[in-house]
Formats: sequence, C-alpha cells, structure tokens
Amino acid sequence: MQEFKCSAACVDFLQSHGFEVERNVSGLKTAFAARTGDSGPSVAFLAEYDALAGIGHGCGHNLIAIANIAAGLGLKAAIDQGRSGRVIVFGTPAEESFGGKAIMAKAGAFDGIDAALGAHPGTSDATCPTVEGSGRSLARQEFLVAFHGKPAHAAADPYNGINALDALTLFYNGVSALRQQTSTDARFHGIITDGGDAPNIIPHYAATKYRARAATIGYMETLIEKVRRIGEGAALMTGCRFEFVRTVEPYFDMITNHTLARQVKRHLDELGFEQPEATASEPAGSTDWGNTSYAAPSVETSFPIMEGTCTWHSQAVVDASDSELAYANTITVAKALALTGIDLISNPALLVEVRQEFDRSLQQRAAIA
Ligand SMILES: [Zn+2]
Repeated sequence: MQEFKCSAACVDFLQSHGFEVERNVSGLKTAFAARTGDSGPSVAFLAEYDALAGIGHGCGHNLIAIANIAAGLGLKAAIDQGRSGRVIVFGTPAEESFGGKAIMAKAGAFDGIDAALGAHPGTSDATCPTVEGSGRSLARQEFLVAFHGKPAHAAADPYNGINALDALTLFYNGVSALRQQTSTDARFHGIITDGGDAPNIIPHYAATKYRARAATIGYMETLIEKVRRIGEGAALMTGCRFEFVRTVEPYFDMITNHTLARQVKRHLDELGFEQPEATASEPAGSTDWGNTSYAAPSVETSFPIMEGTCTWHSQAVVDASDSELAYANTITVAKALALTGIDLISNPALLVEVRQEFDRSLQQRAAIA
C-alpha cells in the first residue's frame, strides 16, 4: 500500500493515452481504474506494481504493470478503430501483503466485468493454465489468536494467576490435533509472537499469528470456525479471555477460466511464444487474484522472464525482471492479452462460453463448501 510513485506513473501514462482514471478505488490510495469505451462487453486488465520489502521486484510485478497497461492500450486501439467494447485497466496494490484485489472485490470493484485478464512472470517452465486442474491457488486467511489472563508471582502465589501461555499451548496442540480430520489441502502454520515476560511471572498475555489455507474459500471458512472453537475451548480450560482477529481480508482460491486461458494460449502460440503445455497440479501458494476470480471470469497466465529456473522471490528474479528477455516477453504477452480482449468484444459466442464456465465453477465451489 506504499506504491505511490508506481501508481502515479501508471496513472499519468494511461491518462496521456486517453484513459479516464478514477483514483482511490475502494478507498485504497494506490489503487486506480482507468477506463475507455462506452458500450459493449467490458474487459479488465489487472496491473500490479508492489515490490517485496528488502528485496525489490523479486516477483516481477513491475512487468505485470507493463503487460497489463500495454494490453489495455492494444484493446483501446481496436475500440478507437470502431469496435464496441469497454476496457478497464485496474491498478491493484499490495498483492504480496494486504491483498488489494481482496479489498477491491469486497467493495464490488470487479462486479459486472465480463472478463478479467492478466499475466505474471515466471521461470522457463511458465505455462498458461489451459487445462482443468491448472491455474489454482489456495484460499488463505491470516489471523491473530490471543489469550488474556492474570499475572502472579510464579513461586509465591501462582494460584492467583491465570496462565495465558497455558491457554496458548492448548490452542496450539488443539490445532495440531485437528490436522488429522481435515482434507489434505488444508494447511495451518503459525508462530508464537508473545509467550510471557519472565519465567517467574505467570504470563498474563500470550499471542500467536497463524495462516490457514484450503483448496476453497468455503472449506477454509469451515476450518476457521473449528479453529475458533479450539481457542474458545482453551480459554474455558484456563479461565482466560480469548481474542480472535482476522488481520487481513481472506484471499479466495483462484478459479481459472480455462476457456479464457485457451484463447490467451492460442494467441501466444500465434505470436511464436513456445511455452510448455499446462498440467493439472496441486495448488501451493495463494493470491488475491482468487477474490477477483469469484467476481468475474478470470485468467492470469504465466510467462517466462529467464532461461532456466531459480528460487522465486529472490535476487535472481530482481535481475531477470529488468532484463531484455523479460521486456520482450512482457510485450508479447501483452499482445496476446489484447488480442484475447478483441476476441471477447467481437465474438458473443465466446463470451457466452466464458460465462457458462464461470457459472459452472461457482456452482461446483458452492457444492464443496
Ligand atoms: Zn507475484
């Protein structure tokens, strides 16, 4: 949420190319929506520009900004030549931390959009998620659990204390026991942030920060309710007061629209971009794109910015994100996204197919939850 210079650079550029720009979208100072076109299907491109603290562009989000702004310009050119359609380039801050898209989706920023497109850099094995089971991510919620007890001297009168650390360890072990009764996609991972002040004082306060993840937002919410009850149980056993705080908006799981993905891939192939075919795989990370994907049919393709592979969120990615290869591939991806946008505004049957897949995916998710 500190991307003031990046956001301003994007806004100035889009304005100078004839877009109407709304700032402070959904109350976020570094978010924007740049619009053009006044009728027809609406196609959104989602620009990110946040960097990683202490590393810089170790996830290549500078290229995400370029790719999606360039795609917006491409589709605008087609509309300026007489096609009917609407383009919105969204500036979506803080993907890595607070989830700009999660906040924007909750506020309805993506409602009524016919398709949301985007591209994220990757290594040489980057793919476009064209097949069922590809392009997934885990739903995620970060939360704080705290227990409030009462201090006492641990040797002189411990019976006058209420031990918050005891409550916290009961909670920690309760969550560990829950793991056996969850489906295999569920993850709980946490750290103890406060565990008392000194060994001779009964801890009056103990706190832990956790993240829960699951394959769908619905199942994750079911698990979080179980976790909350474990906390209430630990509080009851020890006499502590229990506090549960969601520290950020939940990240939804990603519903990739494979009809959209196949269209993007077709154009990437035409442009001579040789990418390996996508395969179904278990989701590992989380992204706020998931929240957008529940509001509008979505695809975020991946594209290579280096030869070979490396550890992500690293200096190697910072270097690759400012390389000739990266810039060339970013523009190629932008062309494929723009061409997909042109397909969407000129081919009503494609829009129907995209919408049908979107509705089907949402129904499947509702059945799981
Ligand atoms: Zn990223």
